[in-house]
Amino acid sequence: LSLPLQAKMSRPVQARRLEGIDKNIWVEFVKLAATYSKVNLGQGFPDFPPPDFLKEALERALSREKYMLHQYTRVFGHPPLVKILAQLFGKLLGRDLDPLTNVMVTVGAYQALFCCFQAFIDEGDEVIIIEPFFDCYQPMVKMAGGTPVFVPLRPKPSKDRKLMSSADWQLDPAELASKFSKRTKAIVLNSPNNPLGKVFSRGELELIAELCVKHDVLCISDEVYEWLVYDGKEHVRIASLQGMWDRTVIIGSAGKTFSATGWKVGWTVGPDQLLQHVRTVHQNSVYHCATIAQEAVGQGFQRELELYGKPESYFVQLPKELQQKRDWLVQSLDAVGMKPIIPEGTYFLVADISEFKSDVPDVPNSEEPYDYRFAKWMVKNKGIAAIPLSAFYCEAHKNNYNHFVRFCFAKEEATLKAANDILQKWKQEKTSP
Ligand code: PMP
Repeated sequence: LSLPLQAKMSRPVQARRLEGIDKNIWVEFVKLAATYSKVNLGQGFPDFPPPDFLKEALERALSREKYMLHQYTRVFGHPPLVKILAQLFGKLLGRDLDPLTNVMVTVGAYQALFCCFQAFIDEGDEVIIIEPFFDCYQPMVKMAGGTPVFVPLRPKPSKDRKLMSSADWQLDPAELASKFSKRTKAIVLNSPNNPLGKVFSRGELELIAELCVKHDVLCISDEVYEWLVYDGKEHVRIASLQGMWDRTVIIGSAGKTFSATGWKVGWTVGPDQLLQHVRTVHQNSVYHCATIAQEAVGQGFQRELELYGKPESYFVQLPKELQQKRDWLVQSLDAVGMKPIIPEGTYFLVADISEFKSDVPDVPNSEEPYDYRFAKWMVKNKGIAAIPLSAFYCEAHKNNYNHFVRFCFAKEEATLKAANDILQKWKQEKTSP
C-alpha cells in the first residue's frame, strides 16, 4: 500500500446542522473569569457546599456493601430515584405518577432539554422562545432542524418604586398570540427564568396555556429553579393548568435543587405518550446516567419529602438564605449606581449599566455590544465577573437589550462582601475626581 504518511482531509467535515451554532458565551466568559476575576459572579453555581445530608448520602452510597452502585443502573433512571421523583411530583401536581413511564433521569437538565428537542422537533417546525432565554435553547432547536421564534418580555418601569422588579418584565399578550401558527410545534417556558429571575404568575401561565391548547402546541417547561422563589411568591407548574398535562414535559435539575451543579443529575416528568419519545433519544445517545449520583439524589429527595413544608426542609432553608444574599447584592449594586432589577426567583439578578458608559473605553466601529464590552472591562479592571444580558437574546433583538449584565448571587457571604468592597471603592473613585 503506498499511502502518504500524512493525508489531510480535503472535504468539509462539519455536519450542516452545526452551521452557525459554534459560538458559546460560557466558553469565552468562563475563561475570562478564570483569568481575571477576584469575585466571580458570572456563571451560575454556588460557591458554598451542598447540604450535609446530601454529602452523607453520597458517602453511604460509597460503602463497601453497596458496591453494585458502581455499576450500570436502569437506563431511564435509577429505580429509587424515579420512585421518589414520581412521589414528589405526584404530590405537587395532584396526580398519580408511574415512576417507570412518567419520569426519566438525564445528565442534568441540559440533556433533558436536548432529548426533548430531538424527540419533538422536525425540519420546518417552529419553537417559540421567550426572551431573555437560557442560551442553549436556540442552538438545540436549530440542531433538531427547527426554527426558533422569539418573543421578548417587555420591561414596564414602575413609577412608584425606585427599583424595578422582574415582575415588571411582561409578555405582550397580542404579540405572544401573533407568534403561534400552524408551524408552531412547541413553546419553551422557563419559570423561574434565567437570567431575569422572573417567576411567571398564574395569569401569565394561563395565557400561555390557552394558546398552547388552542394551537395544539407542546410545552417544554424548564423549571430547574422551582425551589428558588422569594418574598412568598408561588411557583405555579404549568402542567397543573387545565389542558396542559398531556402536552407538557417538566424539566428539573438536582444541580440547582441541592446546590450540586457538578453532579449533573436532571430529570423529565410528563405523560408517557410524550416521554416515550424522550426515552428513544436518551437510549440512543447517553443511555445510562451515573448510578451513584442518582442514588444520593434519591436519598436527598426522600429526606425532603419527609420534611416537606417544614422549617428544616432544604427547600425552605435555601430560598431563605438566597433571599438574604439577593438583598445584599441589590444594595451593593444600587449604591454604586447599577440599577438592579429585583428577581422574584432563581439565583441571578440583572442590573442596568446605562450609567457606566463613560467608564468603559469606546471602541470605534466595534461590532461588540456595549454589555459585552462592559463585562470584559469590569472583569479586567475591577475583578468582578458578570455575564452580558444580550447573550440571552437572538441576533435581531440583542441591540435592544445591550445595557444590562447578569450577576449570580448563590455565593458565600464573604464573596458578596468582597464584591461590595470593590463596588464601594469604585463608587468613591467615581464621585471624587
Ligand atoms: N436550564 C436552565 C434555565 C439553567 O439555568 C441551567 C443551568 N444553568 C440548565 C437548564 C442546565 O442545568 P444542568 O446543570 O442540570 O444541566
